[in-house]
Amino acid sequence: MEENTKIPQATAKRLPLYHRYLKYLHESGKERVSSAELSEAVKVDSATIRRDFSYFGALGKKGYGYNVAYILDFFSKTLSQDKQTNVAIIGVGNLGMALLHYNFMKNNNIKIAAAFDVDADKVGTIQQDIPIYHLNDMEETLRENNVEVVILTVPSSEAQATVDKLLEADVKGILNFTPARISVPKHVRVHHIDLTTELQTLIYFLENYPQNK
Ligand code: NAD
Repeated sequence: MEENTKIPQATAKRLPLYHRYLKYLHESGKERVSSAELSEAVKVDSATIRRDFSYFGALGKKGYGYNVAYILDFFSKTLSQDKQTNVAIIGVGNLGMALLHYNFMKNNNIKIAAAFDVDADKVGTIQQDIPIYHLNDMEETLRENNVEVVILTVPSSEAQATVDKLLEADVKGILNFTPARISVPKHVRVHHIDLTTELQTLIYFLENYPQNK
């Protein structure tokens, strides 16, 4: 099998989408699927699906399609779903608390292991079985819990200072919900979730590419 790093980023971004649908097929007892069926379900054109799947050696057979269990196994390994990944939430306000309530474990092996805040009313409490620590205890707690990926939900004014602390704790991945642009060294990966931009894009597409059906 190809190594993760050899898969193009655009393909890698579609993996969770494929994974979710293949998991559903597998659970409903389906053994094979064609690229046309997949295309209809995940709304990616079938040529792209065939090219994506070819990167990891899954060549669909004419008249047979793809073996669901085989591809699912590959995806699970590639997406690290066969091992548990501990993550932490930094900033337990409106958004951080909502994410604490979202049970990642239901569908995959991501576990929120710890949360951090600076508010004395929140620090030291346990929410949804997850302890809330003070930011000052972050480095030690992240290391103890083997956390390298965090979700950043602090006020944007605090974002960079908080990120600087995260870097000291050797965090490798940051899912940034704050609108702040944060700077990190090259080996750290930041993904931004910007709801406003996403909505604007959606509205733009609705206005410019109205669907026929
Ligand atoms: P909030 O004010 O409700 O929560 C922020 C939390 O961070 C508070 O509990 C605060 O005590 C804590 N905090 C402050 N400084 C901290 C620090 N240095 N370290 C750790 N914790 C710290 O804000 P929110 O509505 O949850 O939003 C959080 C971030 O997400 C903001 O940057 C906001 O712009 C962004 N955001 C929020 C939403 C939303 O729907 N609420 C949507 C998109 C983006």
